[in-house]
Amino acid sequence: MHIGIAGVGLVGRVLALNLLRQGHTLTLFDEDIAYGDKAAGMTAAGMLAVFAELESAESVIFDHGNRSIALWPDLLAQVDCAEAYQQKGSIITAHPQDYNELDHFIETLKSKVEEASQIKLLDRRELTELEPDLSQHAKAFFIPQEGQVDAQHFMQASSDYLLANSDVTWNQNVKVKDISEGSIELEETSEVFDWVFDARGLGANAQVKDLRGVRGEVIWLDAPEVNITRPTRMLHPRYKIYIVPRPNNRYVIGATEIESEDKSPVSVRSSLELLSALYSMHSGFAEARIVKMLTNCRPTLRDNLPQIIHGQKMTRINGLYRHGYLLAPAIVEKALNEGINK
Ligand SMILES: Cc1cc2nc3c(=O)[nH]c(=O)nc-3n(C[C@H](O)[C@H](O)[C@H](O)COP(=O)(O)OP(=O)(O)OC[C@H]3O[C@@H](n4cnc5c(N)ncnc54)[C@H](O)[C@@H]3O)c2cc1C
Repeated sequence: MHIGIAGVGLVGRVLALNLLRQGHTLTLFDEDIAYGDKAAGMTAAGMLAVFAELESAESVIFDHGNRSIALWPDLLAQVDCAEAYQQKGSIITAHPQDYNELDHFIETLKSKVEEASQIKLLDRRELTELEPDLSQHAKAFFIPQEGQVDAQHFMQASSDYLLANSDVTWNQNVKVKDISEGSIELEETSEVFDWVFDARGLGANAQVKDLRGVRGEVIWLDAPEVNITRPTRMLHPRYKIYIVPRPNNRYVIGATEIESEDKSPVSVRSSLELLSALYSMHSGFAEARIVKMLTNCRPTLRDNLPQIIHGQKMTRINGLYRHGYLLAPAIVEKALNEGINK
């Protein structure tokens, strides 16, 4: 089939990779350039936090998350960046005065899925064996199943792959007004396909009911004095921060969660909260260098769950909220099975 995809962010790319494997020809449309940074998928930390995200989510994301974790290695291999995948577990810790928060967090996970009883409580010695740089913490939890995708590496490698593929035409800087049965509507014209997908994330808010943006801010640091190798969260009564390691002592620190579609630069308040929490976690961050601070908005529906809508020769996928990397491979698989492949 000749298939049109509106939006080449995270979902659009995962769709494109699946459809190419099935032998289809694709025309992609994005209002950004192929190597641009408008997609939330470019800002994401890429954590595959199948358990930890359950604290504020429904257990349905657990099943999709596990399925996605199984699917990511093949997708990354397809675009020749297998090394962008890591699954060696994650750490959750807190300061002693916040141990109640920590216990409550784990109890919440256990109340949502039985498998959370496998989450391992670590004392200082066990934590130090796993992550020597976290030795100042006397208590933590280890979630062996969790991992991460180096989101920016995936976005770069998938751009390279799709641009070089002779079955793909990528229309960059082209805004899509809407999609309808087998048709992608542009500002002046429309193009007809055998099937069309809407993967515009927040850009589809005029057509997808109750879609909103949830602002998230992240700070990138170079920290030669810190050697943390796994995604690590620190719980705190007011804010939760995570540290996601990237190669060469680079870290993504995130993320705020603010009910707003404002994509303006990171605020002083957010940077103070993120950085002071970070410094209290490991003093080696004091001499880290701030490489960049980024803001984007997560496309979110009222129930904070993903949504797949099928029509005649069309499918819309949206609402991946703060779980795009955790959910996209499984949600795309489901959407294809229920729609175009049915
Ligand atoms: C700060 C932050 C941290 C995050 N961390 C994580 C994480 O650790 N783990 C995780 O699983 N998820 C994370 N996420 C969530 C994840 O990034 C999103 O769920 C995911 O990117 C949503 O994918 P999408 O394809 O629907 O939207 P996007 O990735 O935003 O892609 C939408 C694409 O559509 C294009 N577009 C929009 N409107 C139009 C139009 N009218 N015409 C043409 N093109 C258009 C855009 O240019 C963009 O390329 C994070 C998000 C943020 C903001």
